[in-house]
Amino acid sequence: INKTKKVTLKLATSWPAHFPIMGTGVDRFVERCAELSGGTLEIKVYPKNILVPALQVFDATSAAQIDAFHSGVYYWKGKNSAFSIFGGMPLGFTSEEMITWLKFGGGYALWRELYGKFNLYPLVGGTTGPQMGGWFKKQINALADLQGLKMRIPGLAGEVMEHLGVNPVLLPAGDIYTALERGTIDATEWVGPALDNMMGFSKVAPYYYTGWHEPGSILELTFNKTRWEKLTPQHQAIITAASEEMTSTMLQEFRYENAKAYQSLSSVVEIKTFPPEVIDAAKKALKDVLAHESAKSEDFRRVLKSYETFSNLNKPWDDISTKNFLEIRG
Ligand code: CA
Repeated sequence: INKTKKVTLKLATSWPAHFPIMGTGVDRFVERCAELSGGTLEIKVYPKNILVPALQVFDATSAAQIDAFHSGVYYWKGKNSAFSIFGGMPLGFTSEEMITWLKFGGGYALWRELYGKFNLYPLVGGTTGPQMGGWFKKQINALADLQGLKMRIPGLAGEVMEHLGVNPVLLPAGDIYTALERGTIDATEWVGPALDNMMGFSKVAPYYYTGWHEPGSILELTFNKTRWEKLTPQHQAIITAASEEMTSTMLQEFRYENAKAYQSLSSVVEIKTFPPEVIDAAKKALKDVLAHESAKSEDFRRVLKSYETFSNLNKPWDDISTKNFLEIRG
């Protein structure tokens, strides 16, 4: 006899209802929690702006107005600059490397310690795989072409772009297309072929650049810590298992849907790669941004040190395994 008492949790997201891949990933997570718990764990999903505005889910969960949220980690850089590293690093780890660092390289311990100060308990809630570099109205053939360009690009990547002369802008998803069409912005990044295609960017910006700035962004499934600690060990285990399933399934779905969308997009738009001069300047600017943030914040320094320790361990092995194999396979 299952004597577990039924629990109902309120989870708000930063996405519209059933938003492809990200939102449907949450829907599947909720179904799995119900299945695995024999119906004793019910999670009610509140899409963006239904119960809580999209970018207030962090505060609402911290204040226990809701029990949990699903969102992107880089939105909370203003709370603590170190949080941006848990969301992913420009020119840094792929999704698989990010998750490995979090689970085995000490990343989770730091993330939970720093979120603990907001009474929050984070879990990875999916990852996008490599994102594309974005849509541009004009070609970027040299560093000079970036001067004064207005681009929608968030997080550390926005800071890097600022060092290269770009004017980074933050716009909610619903406003990007119109801003690009009217020329209020000259370029935008979003995610990858599958989700970008739905936004119709190819109609107003013909050049689609390959990515560098979000090689493996992490989405989060974060709980109010007090609420989390009150859950039974069984419910905690179910949520943890379902979140891991959600993460691997989302990565697979992004890969499949991006591959399909790329097949149709690549014949209609021009796929471009940033010139080496731009990538070299981005690498240099990233170093400056990281040094600047480290000087300002001990938390940032600690998280970056952990990230770099795993990077130094991982790179030699990755070079002779994955990277070498992909080169051999051709
Ligand atoms: Ca993005």
